[in-house]
Amino acid sequence: MNHYLLPDISEPGKTGCSLPALDVAPAESLPKELLREEFELPEVSEVEIVRYFTALSSLNYGVDSGFYPLGSCTMKYNPKWHEDVAGLPGFALVHPLQPVESVQGALQLMFELQDYLSEINGMDSTSLVPMAGAQGEFACLLMVKAFHQDRGDKNRNKIVIPDSSHGTNPASAVMCGFEVVTVPSDKEGNIDFNMLEAVMNEEVAALTLTMPNTLGLFDPQITEISQLVHERGALLGADGANLNALLGNVKYGDLGYDYVQLNLHKTFSTPHGGGGPGAGPVCVKTHLTDFLPSPLVTKDNGEYVFISPANSTGKLCDFYGNFGVMVKAYAYLRFLGAEGLKEVSNNAVLNANYIKEKLKKYYHLPYDRKCMHEVVFSGKSQMAKGVHTLDIAKRLMDFGFHPPTVYFPLNVQEAIMIEPTETESKETLDAYIQAMIDIAREAEENPEILHTSPHNTPVRRLDSVKAARQPELNWSMYMSSKKRETGTKETEL
Ligand SMILES: *Cc1c(COP(=O)(O)O)cnc(C)c1O
Repeated sequence: MNHYLLPDISEPGKTGCSLPALDVAPAESLPKELLREEFELPEVSEVEIVRYFTALSSLNYGVDSGFYPLGSCTMKYNPKWHEDVAGLPGFALVHPLQPVESVQGALQLMFELQDYLSEINGMDSTSLVPMAGAQGEFACLLMVKAFHQDRGDKNRNKIVIPDSSHGTNPASAVMCGFEVVTVPSDKEGNIDFNMLEAVMNEEVAALTLTMPNTLGLFDPQITEISQLVHERGALLGADGANLNALLGNVKYGDLGYDYVQLNLHKTFSTPHGGGGPGAGPVCVKTHLTDFLPSPLVTKDNGEYVFISPANSTGKLCDFYGNFGVMVKAYAYLRFLGAEGLKEVSNNAVLNANYIKEKLKKYYHLPYDRKCMHEVVFSGKSQMAKGVHTLDIAKRLMDFGFHPPTVYFPLNVQEAIMIEPTETESKETLDAYIQAMIDIAREAEENPEILHTSPHNTPVRRLDSVKAARQPELNWSMYMSSKKRETGTKETEL
């Protein structure tokens, strides 16, 4: 019997409860117009429904159940202790409308976190308000726009972005009313400097350059790039989602960046996936401080207060952002300290390079150079046998691993993007490497086993587009989709 599918166990007449015999007069039935005619629910016994939900709960794969090398997502282990801290009543039970005198501790935490994030990134001030990386990008571009307008430089309506970029980079630019100019990568995987030089005219407001880039590579031309961008009157912005590669070792400010948005839910220990909650603080140099989204926390006469910067681009959400995520980031920073942070990025980079060296004999490595926190392979060599990256990713599930990010970045054919993070042991990395090697051998000898994978999951290959557009999240959604599929009428099901 398949415990994952309720229709398999539902039988008319089964029930999960038994009520005692009525010892009062029965109430009158509800009037007919208040009764639903269609009210289909599965009919199951109590033990069956318990097994059903228990089986479902064990299907959820997460960092707490296994290795999760989803490139660009930094799916590292988040210590449970941070949850305890965020759950302390003084943090968890504060209300956003409380008078500030009564929440000085919470404001002190925000104040110090602003400072730590500025310091880590070599910036001058930070707003904690944005609630996701993408919203942080949007906030940065609002500031870019306001900065140029404020200087009377009104024709800068373009944002330059490399072709390796994360999809949110062009999306945020368009949301903000900018036009996107894409620059290709060169043979080394860096932004093509000559092409960049050619597009950097007086209409460009900023260059968004993820560092390391989405190929996991540090662009050694960064000083020249920063010089060029500033000479042409534009700003240089980092998508700081890849901060795990630099933490404690390199500061965006020192590289010449004017601003950066962070992902506390990637780098600073908040579990993520499934859409939140997250936090995407933005850190800026002095010339952008006045435009930061409000509110900021400052200290005035020994008291912590909220302020709005002089030319603030405004509020991005109700109240102050996702406070619980800030508490976890603060706990993480205080726990690790400066030396600990350095070790985080050192190990993240070491682990990615270890995987790169061990697997490059088996998978095509488009850019054979030292990588940062993630490594991008291509499934090109396996294509000769009709095996695609998707087959490799699905087969990994049979070995008990979460697949890496696939088909991204877009400028690598059949991309396989692996980000091991710093929290995995050598044993785990070795087991994963062995699985990848076994799969490369299978692609040579028995490609069919890859085409039909995964073999051990309750459902095989999902239509991920349909899953997003027509999710069946409960029984009635499931029943109506069955009806659509089979064309059956209510009564026949
Ligand atoms: C995850 C990510 C983003 C978007 O962050 P969200 O918090 O999901 O909005 C942007 N850029 C890069 C490089 C990322 O990895």
